[in-house]
Amino acid sequence: METTQNRHLFKRYIAQASDFEPFSLDVEKGEGVYVWDKAGKKYIDFISSICVNNVGHRNPVVLQAIENQMQKYLHIMVYGEFIQQPQIDFAQRLCENLPPQLQKIFLLNSGSEAIDGAIKLARLQNGRGEIVSFRNSYHGSTVGAISALGNEPIRHRFDPLLPHHRLAHFNSLPDLEQISEKTCCVIAEVVQSGGGMVEADEVWMKKLRERCTETGALLIFDEIQSGFGRTGKLFAFEHYGVVPDILCIAKSMGGGMPIGAFVASEKLMDLLNVEHPLMGHASTFGGHPLSCAAALASLNLILGNDILPKVEEKGQRIRRHLEKIEAVKKVSGKGLFLAAHFEDEKTTARVQERCMANGLISFWLLFNHTALALTPPLTITDSEIDTAMEIFARSVKEAVQ
Ligand code: PMP
Repeated sequence: METTQNRHLFKRYIAQASDFEPFSLDVEKGEGVYVWDKAGKKYIDFISSICVNNVGHRNPVVLQAIENQMQKYLHIMVYGEFIQQPQIDFAQRLCENLPPQLQKIFLLNSGSEAIDGAIKLARLQNGRGEIVSFRNSYHGSTVGAISALGNEPIRHRFDPLLPHHRLAHFNSLPDLEQISEKTCCVIAEVVQSGGGMVEADEVWMKKLRERCTETGALLIFDEIQSGFGRTGKLFAFEHYGVVPDILCIAKSMGGGMPIGAFVASEKLMDLLNVEHPLMGHASTFGGHPLSCAAALASLNLILGNDILPKVEEKGQRIRRHLEKIEAVKKVSGKGLFLAAHFEDEKTTARVQERCMANGLISFWLLFNHTALALTPPLTITDSEIDTAMEIFARSVKEAVQ
């Protein structure tokens, strides 16, 4: 189908998430760090389709795992009723690489669902009402997850949401006082992506953990974007020596397939299965066998190869390129979870537009419109980084001239 015609059909039939002109890249194919449009133009996906394709598009190991599982069964039964080998294999491999406090996994389909499940689990544990989250955080689009959104005007569009919500400043020690014996749970990203890849401060993280423990509030980490090697460790919380009570994961978890989950201790998680069968939490497609097979393949790649130790090195390579670009005022983030900051919104939007025109996909951030996300697949090679950054430098030059 002709791209112009497709654009029309896309806008006519597909519900749009933004009212300005979307990129409308008419996708033909994805492979490795590349995406091609229908006209044959090649783009470097420097955002991994928003931190999903950590092992690249259509990684052959992931494709093979999907293919193998496809020969056996697709959907079989709602989550937790039948034993499904791909679920067990993935869960075991993941838990072997998590601390002892995080050993039981509830498999779902998306990040938002994982956040909702985590909130429900916290409710069952302590029966309290208040939820504390942080300014500039994004935790998803379901009613539960949007209740914890770190932006008051946007949240209020959907009122009434979950009541008793408190919004604290990220990295503010005094604001930790907002966490009290009334707090059910505290939800935090370890690196805030929407705010412009803002890293949690080390002392603050330790105090946050302490405050939650002392008040009995459950600490929920949203590692939906930062997880699965993005920051150079399997999960970003590992940089801090702080462990949450509940860990929410999704996005790159499935190597390109839809899957999400929350992880907790066995004792905590078992609160979901008492009294009313399937009414604690359940999902028809949660932990779909194809997604679990893909998730295991992707996890094995991340853990097994030399991917993780090279993330920081690759991030530094990008930073060195960015240092040479005068219009880039600051680079924030960790590993390959980076953002380039510019003087103003207009320049930022123009850089992004020039990048697209020149074949490099970067993306704006939810709450910070003077920065662009730079989060390529972890499998990107040094020469692919160099090519991408040449395009980026050229695009910036075109944008500011
Ligand atoms: N938390 C964070 C930090 C996210 O980036 C996202 C997705 N952008 C979500 C939660 C929600 O995940 P999903 O879109 O899979 O529901």
